[in-house]
Amino acid sequence: MVTSSLLPTYARADLAFERGDGAWLTATTGERFLDFGGGIAVASLGYSHPHLVAALIEQGGRLWHTSNLFEIPQAERLARRLVEASFADYVFFTNSGAEAVEGAIKTARKYQSVSGHPEKFHAITFEGAFHGRTLATIAAGGNPKYIDGFGPKVEGFDPVPFGDVEAVKASIGPQTGAILVEPIQGEGGIRVPAPDFLRALRDLCDRHGLLLIFDEVQTGVGRTGKLFAYELFGVAPDIMAIAKGIGGGFPLGAFLTTREAGKGMTVGTHGTTFGGNPLATRIGDAVLDIVLAPGFIEHVALMGLKLKQSLAELKDRHPRVIAEIRGEGLMQGIATRVPVNEFAVAARAEKILVIPAAENVARLLPPLIIGEEEIAEAIKRLDSTCLRIERERDRRMGTDASVSGATA
Ligand SMILES: *Cc1c(COP(=O)(O)O)cnc(C)c1O
Repeated sequence: MVTSSLLPTYARADLAFERGDGAWLTATTGERFLDFGGGIAVASLGYSHPHLVAALIEQGGRLWHTSNLFEIPQAERLARRLVEASFADYVFFTNSGAEAVEGAIKTARKYQSVSGHPEKFHAITFEGAFHGRTLATIAAGGNPKYIDGFGPKVEGFDPVPFGDVEAVKASIGPQTGAILVEPIQGEGGIRVPAPDFLRALRDLCDRHGLLLIFDEVQTGVGRTGKLFAYELFGVAPDIMAIAKGIGGGFPLGAFLTTREAGKGMTVGTHGTTFGGNPLATRIGDAVLDIVLAPGFIEHVALMGLKLKQSLAELKDRHPRVIAEIRGEGLMQGIATRVPVNEFAVAARAEKILVIPAAENVARLLPPLIIGEEEIAEAIKRLDSTCLRIERERDRRMGTDASVSGATA
């Protein structure tokens, strides 16, 4: 590419795709890639799923947008299904994950305010978190790389180490109104907390009158082998943000709340022009047709186990490249002993896509529809990826050895 008119905020690979089918992407060069990144956990049903394509075409030919000044039957239906399948009583639709988290934060602040505690606008957050790129969500995520240079940081977020219950306790003060946490940190490197961590947070919230907010933008909608990751831990939040997987590739997010936690969100307190429009919610509804079908989530859990087992064997074969395998369901991380970008580039050379995360973790977030054949193929390609890295390292060391040998 000579020059681009796109604002250069991304380090893009020199690769573009022109079509997708199941877990496979075809590049403009004609090369086929096995996509174990799923567009960052978004392509929950893979590419060109016939049921989603049919929903898009059917709704697309009738009505895309009407605004929230009118009733939207598609949004009503999707909200009802999300409520029936979760802890929540209400749903607010957004266009992205960051907006969903932002709405969740606003809901918690408003709850405390209408409960007579406007001073309790702070939320305890966690190091390594990622909640999006709006001004409030970068403050909540706490990563200086995303905060620096963008003016005064939005107030009210108090980070503590992920998994550290004592630090949470110590940080609860007169201004604390909520705890905001990803049940499993995604961008932070597929960090799975100890089984009792979220339960401890729930207890602290109940004891101190705080709201528990789960950011399930990445973990939600079947990804972890449960419809929502909170089910893995047996702990329900008061408010939850979802996005990525719910649209199957169409931009759609939502925050869900209990009646009590949402009591401050009355007419006029919050809104969006696009959020929850007929086209987006019709597609979200079609995603749920598949995800909520009998046996689907069980299939994800089973494939997650198979993937994890195969990855553990891969680690045993390549201890120089792989340090650890961690994750739940089809949200698995390969902690690498080499820089994760080197791993991702080598994987791409073997025609498999993975997503780099913090702590040198390569994320595997394949479409939830994959079967054993795709898993076997992925392992084959990841095996070649490790061999490629080992060969390259040997070659470099060999060269270094001969160089130092020559100078000795
Ligand atoms: C991706 C992500 C977000 C932000 O979603 P956007 O759609 O990029 O705004 C927020 N929270 C988590 C946990 C995410 O993984």
